[in-house]
Amino acid sequence: MFSQIINLIYPPLCFACNRNHLQKGQSLCVSCEYKITATQYHLMPENPVAERFYGRVNLAKAATAFSFVKGGLLQDLIHSLKYDDKPEIGQELGRIYGAILREDDYWKSIDFIVPVPLHPKKKHLRGYNQAEMWGLGIADSLGVPLINDVLIRTDYTESQTKKSRSERFKNVENVFAVSNPDVIRGKKLLLVDDVLTTGATIEACALTLFAAADVEISVVCIALAS
Ligand SMILES: [Zn+2]
Repeated sequence: MFSQIINLIYPPLCFACNRNHLQKGQSLCVSCEYKITATQYHLMPENPVAERFYGRVNLAKAATAFSFVKGGLLQDLIHSLKYDDKPEIGQELGRIYGAILREDDYWKSIDFIVPVPLHPKKKHLRGYNQAEMWGLGIADSLGVPLINDVLIRTDYTESQTKKSRSERFKNVENVFAVSNPDVIRGKKLLLVDDVLTTGATIEACALTLFAAADVEISVVCIALAS
């Protein structure tokens, strides 16, 4: 109640610029919304993200949400999400994108959102998993539950220092594990991560999930960094 009154007197600030007040129902102020462009890749069977996985892993759909411009607002936001203790940025971007996905029947038919797990040490240092924050926002808008205890990250990377280059590569393939295959069997999963670069992490996660159970997997990340 108190916070509602405060919001009436002082409408919340835009999470991106932290300067302009928001109108009711807005997540971004008009000026920031103009600077962040949705790719609409989620509606295109062939797009630069889907193409990245051709011949590597069989994904039902793959997309990045927003166009990545070097030095642009989105780059700043992702940086803050990862390094400035701003989990709410991930959630807010997720809510915006979830509202876009909700317009299309396929995405509404997803059973579970599965975030790429973070290395336990990193999660401890950061205090949260940024991929999970992004996923929680999508879950919120899309009305689909997020599960963070089925795809897990085992701590094998710890002992990599004494390994050769080829051994390390093999080791990365075994970083992920599925704790309870029964939960996901026969389900449509939406694997989510923050920034997509080589796609190696997504590929390793997807292959781990496929090996554990009969599932359908789609992927959405915040942005594609080339
Ligand atoms: Zn703004």
